[in-house]
Amino acid sequence: MARFIFITGGVVSSLGKGLMAASLGALLQARGFTVRTRKFDPYLNVDPGTMSPYQHGEVYVTDDGAETDLDLGHYERFTGVASRQADNVTQGRIYQTIIQRERRGDYLGATVQVIPHVTDEIKAFALAETDDVDFVLCEIGGTVGDIESLPFMEAIRQLHNELDVGQTIFVHVTLVPYIAAAGELKTKPTQHSVRELTSLGIQPDILLCRTEHPLPDSERAKIALFCNVRKDAVIPALDASSIYAVPAQYHAEGLDTAVLRAFGIEGVREPDMARWADIMDRQQNPEGEVTIGVVGKYVGLPDAYKSLHEALVHGGLANRVKVKVQWLDAELFEAEDSDIAAKLEPMHGILVPGGFGVRGSEGKIASVRFARERQVPFFGICLGMQMACIEGARNTAGIAAASTTEFGPTDEPVVGLITEWMSKEGLQKRTAEGDLGGTMRLGAYPAKLTGNSVVASIYGGNDISERHRHRYEVNASYREPLEKGGLFFSGMSPDGTLPEIIERPDHPWFIGVQFHPELKSKPFDPHPLFASFIAAAVKQSRLV
Ligand code: GLN
Repeated sequence: MARFIFITGGVVSSLGKGLMAASLGALLQARGFTVRTRKFDPYLNVDPGTMSPYQHGEVYVTDDGAETDLDLGHYERFTGVASRQADNVTQGRIYQTIIQRERRGDYLGATVQVIPHVTDEIKAFALAETDDVDFVLCEIGGTVGDIESLPFMEAIRQLHNELDVGQTIFVHVTLVPYIAAAGELKTKPTQHSVRELTSLGIQPDILLCRTEHPLPDSERAKIALFCNVRKDAVIPALDASSIYAVPAQYHAEGLDTAVLRAFGIEGVREPDMARWADIMDRQQNPEGEVTIGVVGKYVGLPDAYKSLHEALVHGGLANRVKVKVQWLDAELFEAEDSDIAAKLEPMHGILVPGGFGVRGSEGKIASVRFARERQVPFFGICLGMQMACIEGARNTAGIAAASTTEFGPTDEPVVGLITEWMSKEGLQKRTAEGDLGGTMRLGAYPAKLTGNSVVASIYGGNDISERHRHRYEVNASYREPLEKGGLFFSGMSPDGTLPEIIERPDHPWFIGVQFHPELKSKPFDPHPLFASFIAAAVKQSRLV
């Protein structure tokens, strides 16, 4: 049976627990173990699908169609293990399950309570689908002391007693702040945080201490003494130059060694870090630089496009160049006097990412037009592909009123709501008035690529599977006029009804995809579309 590593956070939020879990997973893998990484989110939303990207960052979608926390993206990027629905649960979903059960009468008249009903449900989630791996890393969202996270803390405390001796450990991530006026690192917040944790019955085995300055040995000893952990289990975690430097850095500080020691596992080989060394070599020694303009709506918060940003970085790794991402607010391109050319001319590639709603859409369409007319590499993702089709319809196919039903009623629905589609679970149906949560075309769907298309050569094949998250589709009944205007439909759903990819054969690099390729890109396995897009941007950079 799997061993469990429970990861909690203290002192402040945003300590990078997700990255820590992902990096520890990568280190255990590099030592030959198999891992799964999962996340408990204490908030009451059933999933993050209906939350604003400004609140929560991007929604990460799994192959099996779950809308999950963006930390699952880190897990997948660092371990290469595809996440599943079973790897992310919110308190909202736990309560939803319990309340549905209560309404059905399944509790046979019992009073339904946090202990044992909520905690049992959390434990069942933690243990589900874990038989096939050596280690399960469970990250608890939030910070110790939060009211919301209490049932999760209680559940992992119980699991520690219920599973075998030596089958669970607790890692607590804290902050050791530097007080400039005193010129000192302060351990007190960590002591308080651990006291809070132990008051809940959880004694951490390992402390990962985030700091901006090297942690002196004396402070490490002090933390060990006051927090009741071994000194070699107090792991300093200095800010890293790149997130991909974190696994090697944590290994150098002894994190994976401390974890194996806490489990009493001996005689394991040192991790094979070749993959991470290669990534760092490519990142630290670039042979050039390209600038990519991302024209979107949520440009104020980079977390809203987390996977996209990483996939662009991976495209850079594949080409040994540094990718500078310029976040451009699409709305600024809508003003009469906006000088879109001045903003976009320095770009070696233009990308219009996924998004929802009409705000900024005319700016996105104007950017597509600029990229098409000026022959600048263009990549449209999801809403970006839809905008490319509307731009093509209006300006190359003579359909001036082309729009999408997402933005309101239109006589020319070049993009429209899909009300029926086939999924692995059978025919899916929805109406315009239906629920917003969980009603999109979600998760992995196959597509067929045309033999002589650019995308078929980029993928090196004709059958692909990519992850989706959208309500609207390019309307295949406009295929003929759009293709006459030069926009070739090079990828379709296997039944030929839903356009999945469009490209412009008369353009150096112009591709739109209905899915989200960024979700599957990894630093050690860059997505072919991103590798190819950045290669085109490199060519472009030699022209301008
Ligand atoms: N808003 C569009 C749709 O629902 C695109 C979604 C997206 O870009 N993820 O189809």
